[in-house]
Amino acid sequence: MKSLKELTRPNIWSLAPYSSARNEYSGHTAHVFLDANENPYNQPINRYPDPLQTDLKAQLAHVKGVRVEQIFLGNGSDEAIDLLYRCFTCPGSDNVVAIEPTYGMYKVCADINDVEYRPVLLDKNYQFSADKLLAACDANTKLIWLCSPNNPTGNNLIREEIERVLREFQGLVIVDEAYSDFSSQRPFRLDLNKYPNIVVLNTFSKAWGCAGIRLGMAFASPDIISIFNKVKYPYNVNYLTQQKALEALKDPFEVDKWVKLLLQERSRMINNIKLLPLCEEIYPTDSNFFLMKVNDAQRIYDYLVDLGIIVRNRTNVRLCHGCLRITVGTKSENMQLISALRQYE
Ligand SMILES: *Cc1c(COP(=O)(O)O)cnc(C)c1O
Repeated sequence: MKSLKELTRPNIWSLAPYSSARNEYSGHTAHVFLDANENPYNQPINRYPDPLQTDLKAQLAHVKGVRVEQIFLGNGSDEAIDLLYRCFTCPGSDNVVAIEPTYGMYKVCADINDVEYRPVLLDKNYQFSADKLLAACDANTKLIWLCSPNNPTGNNLIREEIERVLREFQGLVIVDEAYSDFSSQRPFRLDLNKYPNIVVLNTFSKAWGCAGIRLGMAFASPDIISIFNKVKYPYNVNYLTQQKALEALKDPFEVDKWVKLLLQERSRMINNIKLLPLCEEIYPTDSNFFLMKVNDAQRIYDYLVDLGIIVRNRTNVRLCHGCLRITVGTKSENMQLISALRQYE
């Protein structure tokens, strides 16, 4: 791996960050707060939230098996994705490499930041080869984007190939594990100490059932995390979100129950839908959704919309021609989808 100084955008490396009131005093013993121009009434939301989310990170470290200094929290994973560009790429000259197809935000953020995005097509089984990915890199490639289990394909990427990229690439390798709670493969989050150039993304939006609170996580070396902390908005995770997340973390077994139930439902849906004449293929999945090839994606999508059932039409995505992406819902929602598909003609 190149040094972090070489990888970091030069103005970010030398940046003196904004110092907020809650940064300058972060102790727990004071009881008169006249430092931040807040209104003393309307507790508890009259106060600025903890800029480094200390309590929340302490709980998360415990649940996720990482150290507090290895955690960044943001307004969804999307904040971490954008920060990676703003911290580690120079607009107009650097580039990033990514598997294709994958999650759309990696490219949107590249475009917003005026950074060249180099997609490398997956194979027929939606797998990638480290060689092909590394061959797309040059001296200005700062980031490689991997997503496992991948969206919209649903499958895990081969672990050995990811490990090769981590060992051989000189820049940062992002492994987006938004769906890893649904997979039985060992998450890369647990191997942070082995790879100085890894950034693992997790989210509260999927298995944790909290898409509405907007809370995303990045796990990486403490040096990488400090650069994120320097660049992020001072109070990027609001008080209500921190409170809700702390509540959710008190009961991680609830998440385990949801995951079990959703995986059972996923099998039931797949077993029913694969028998229908409209279904040409259902691809292997390690997520709470599956990708299915049908005989006429647009017509089936429109038919379902008319019945008030919304799935994701992925037919215009490369390698996903004719495909719909279907999220596993409640038993009743899934039954409605299955019976609608049965009646399609
Ligand atoms: C849903 C999803 C996320 C989550 O994004 P948030 O901003 O945390 O809601 C991240 N990565 C992938 C691949 C996803 O599908």
